[in-house]
Amino acid sequence: MKKLEDYVTSIPNFPEEGIVFRDVTTILEDPDGLCLAVDGVRKMLEGVEYDSVIGPESRGFIFGVPVAYAERKGFIPVRKKGKLPREVLSMDYELEYGTATIELHKESIKPGQKIVIIDDLIATGGTIEAIIKLVEQLGGEVVKICFIMELAGLQGREKLKGYDVESLIIYE
Ligand code: AMP
Repeated sequence: MKKLEDYVTSIPNFPEEGIVFRDVTTILEDPDGLCLAVDGVRKMLEGVEYDSVIGPESRGFIFGVPVAYAERKGFIPVRKKGKLPREVLSMDYELEYGTATIELHKESIKPGQKIVIIDDLIATGGTIEAIIKLVEQLGGEVVKICFIMELAGLQGREKLKGYDVESLIIYE
C-alpha cells in the first residue's frame, strides 16, 4: 500500500538552483493519491467546529474545494491582486525575492466566522500569515490550518505560533 508521500515527485533545482520543488501533480493524477490527500485533511478536521474553508490561489483551491464539498462547507478563495471583482481587502507579504499581494472579498467573512485554511505546502509561511491577517481584520477566527506538505527546515511554523497547524507530510 503506497503512502501519500510516495505520490509526491521531488524535482531538484526547480524553479531555480538549490530549491527542491515538491510537485503535487502526481498526487492529483492518481485516484489513490488524491483520496489519501483529501481524506487525510478531512481526518485532521474531525471534531473541529468551523463555518468555511479558505484557500489561496492556486494549489490551495485544488485541495480546499474537495474538502469543503465533502464536509458540506463553503469555500472562500484568496486570489492574487486584481482578480476578484467585488470590494476586496489586500495584504502585501514578503517572498524570497520581492513582495506579493493577495486579496479577499470583504463580504466573504462575517465577524465571528470560524475559518479553516487549507494549502498545498508551507515554506516560509508568508502566504498563510497574510491570509490570517486578512481573515482577522474582517473579524473572522482561524481555528485550524492544514497543509499537505511542510518544509520544516524553513521554520514557517514560527510565523503561525498560537494557531492549530497540521501537515500530512513533513520534510525536514
Ligand atoms: P510560503 O509563503 O513561503 O509558505 O510558500 C507558499 C507557496 O509557495 C506554497 O503554497 C507552495 O505552493 C509554493 N512553494 C514554496 N516552496 C515550494 C517547494 N519547494 N515546492 C513546491 N512548492 C513550493
